[in-house]
Amino acid sequence: MKTIYVCEICDREYDTEEEAMQCESQGLESPILPVGSFVLTHPIQYGRFGWFNGNKDWIIQAPRGLHSKKDWDSTYYNFIYVITAVTYNKERRKGHIPRYHLATRAMTKETGNHGGYTYPETHLKMIEFSPSIELDVSNLIGNTFKGSL
Ligand SMILES: [Zn+2]
Repeated sequence: MKTIYVCEICDREYDTEEEAMQCESQGLESPILPVGSFVLTHPIQYGRFGWFNGNKDWIIQAPRGLHSKKDWDSTYYNFIYVITAVTYNKERRKGHIPRYHLATRAMTKETGNHGGYTYPETHLKMIEFSPSIELDVSNLIGNTFKGSL
């Protein structure tokens, strides 16, 4: 028989109690941005996994840089997301790291992912953003998503 020790935060297994306690003592990493913050997931890229058919106030449009082809689309579009929730999930052993749930009104469910989660360290980044107009976040805040963005 073998005894294993498990960190109660991330479910990682250890051979010794000391190691498990050490892992657990890391606690939960604080979120880098609070719920309600507006973010972009990339500074200069098209929105992801869908096309906007929603509220255009949640879309940023700007000229592309030097590398754009003349006969091609010379603007880029980016979606504004709001952080709707921060959770900690044991899945994939990231229990100590915040999972950020993001939603946008730029897309509806019909045309793409209107929401999803990210781990900025390993998935989509979050770039803090200040919208120039007030964006309606009612009934978005508090939502969590099962799929990643
Ligand atoms: Zn742990």
